[in-house]
Amino acid sequence: MTLTTVDVILVGAGIMSATLGTLLKQLQPGLRVLLVESLSSEAQESSSAWNNAGTGHAGNCELNYTPMAADGSISLAKALDVNEAFDLSRQFWTHLVRQGALGAPESFIHAVPHMSFVLGEERRAYLRERHRQMGAHPCYDGISYSEDRARVAEWAPLLIEGRDPAATVSATRYAGGTDVNFGALTSQLLAHLRAGPGFAARFGIAVSGLKRCPDGGWRLELRDMKTGELHLAEAATVFLGAGGGALSLLQKAGIPEARGYGGFPVSGLWLRCSDPGLCGRHHAKVYGMAAAGSPPMSVPHLDTRLVEGRRWILFGPYAGFSSRFLKSGSLFDWPRSLRAGNLLPLLAVARDNRPLTEYLIGQVFARSDQRFSALQEFYPNARPSDWELAVAGQRVQIIKTDRRRGGVLQFGTEVVHAADTSLVALLGASPGASAAVAIALEILRSCFRGKLPDGWERTLQGILPSYGLSIRHDPDLCRRIRRESAEVLRLQTP
Ligand SMILES: Cc1cc2nc3c(=O)[nH]c(=O)nc-3n(C[C@H](O)[C@H](O)[C@H](O)COP(=O)(O)OP(=O)(O)OC[C@H]3O[C@@H](n4cnc5c(N)ncnc54)[C@H](O)[C@@H]3O)c2cc1C
Repeated sequence: MTLTTVDVILVGAGIMSATLGTLLKQLQPGLRVLLVESLSSEAQESSSAWNNAGTGHAGNCELNYTPMAADGSISLAKALDVNEAFDLSRQFWTHLVRQGALGAPESFIHAVPHMSFVLGEERRAYLRERHRQMGAHPCYDGISYSEDRARVAEWAPLLIEGRDPAATVSATRYAGGTDVNFGALTSQLLAHLRAGPGFAARFGIAVSGLKRCPDGGWRLELRDMKTGELHLAEAATVFLGAGGGALSLLQKAGIPEARGYGGFPVSGLWLRCSDPGLCGRHHAKVYGMAAAGSPPMSVPHLDTRLVEGRRWILFGPYAGFSSRFLKSGSLFDWPRSLRAGNLLPLLAVARDNRPLTEYLIGQVFARSDQRFSALQEFYPNARPSDWELAVAGQRVQIIKTDRRRGGVLQFGTEVVHAADTSLVALLGASPGASAAVAIALEILRSCFRGKLPDGWERTLQGILPSYGLSIRHDPDLCRRIRRESAEVLRLQTP
């Protein structure tokens, strides 16, 4: 049995490990880093271009980030959090393109307008008010609103063609939106890391056990997926960037901070169109309003995608239930994750989230014509022969203990780390890949503070011009940074 000793082990070759690894090596080039991935190559799970919508989530169009409160008010707070987080990702990619660490921006990011689209008078009033507030904010400078069918048809003709002329349509459009190929980005980040010293990536190797070392750090048991051979690796700090597999590994580590966490797997499907005529006529990511009780990742959207050098239209995702935590996982993932400590929170969530349960059951048993009619709410003239069903990937929503209610279902991401900062895991899915840099910064601050060279935060300011500042409170900074990143990444300034 071989033993490898490094400073940091990254588990999983998705966008999260690739981003954290890149940031760490930028701040401390001498760091010895080992990445292990159970599959044969990187970005095969959630970070694959086809297993997420590729929306550069910036809170431009996702209506679930600006819910209406019971008193009718709308808060931009969550949308602005997401907006600032995505801006950090843009700044990091800008830095890496300038450095030559990433290839041509078109290989991973494109300007695609972000739209919100609603039907009916009540939703119109909501969207109009949301736009009034956003339009006054520098982070959404240039966002447009229209109730005019002809204008909406100019923005996205498929939404209007074949629609009942009496329908009340309303839409917003933000020209500065993006479509991101997180799979291509992950591959490029890892290629750059592997080309440099002090970084090794081992594929086809699964982490099958974790134990604390007597003098600090962790010893990982690594299993070769082909031969079954076992190896060992030790590191002072371990990042569990294993996507849906992170919860099981966190439970194996047995740290007290993991107690009470559970997971709820949600699978997904898309309808996908590759017809060049249709794809050439849709240039937007159009987000609608989620059905009552549905989880935020099930907000339907009609999306332009640029993948494999081609244009596509994606619609969905349709949620479903599978007990796997990863696409490549086992049907026993979910039952195996149940513990005395997370059973009560899970039951509490089942009790308190009946609309979600009903929604998921409805989705699992939805017939193909029912799925298609959801698409036709966006694109009335859609024809089944132009669309194929595709797998959208697997997510594990977090369930955690809550003093008042027993347990809560959380739709965001959560960084969970050991008290001594030697082990850190990322749980949850949303807003996901778009927030990779903001999440990596949270991990740096919580787990690497004393382990990086003095002055690392100053180095970070050189990489991320808004680090330690706030673009939402500084309109000039916001404009300058947006202009710079738009120029380097060849995006649109609205
Ligand atoms: C339907 C859907 C739509 C989405 N849309 C968007 C979107 O539009 N925009 C956005 O920003 N985000 C979106 N997301 C979220 C985003 O895809 C994820 O947040 C992100 O890709 C997670 O990256 P990751 O690196 O944490 O995980 P992953 O990409 O899943 O990588 C984890 C890796 O860990 C490996 N692994 C697991 N267990 C082990 C083990 N024991 N040993 C070794 N390796 C292991 C896995 O094989 C996998 O390769 C979407 C997700 C889904 C499912």
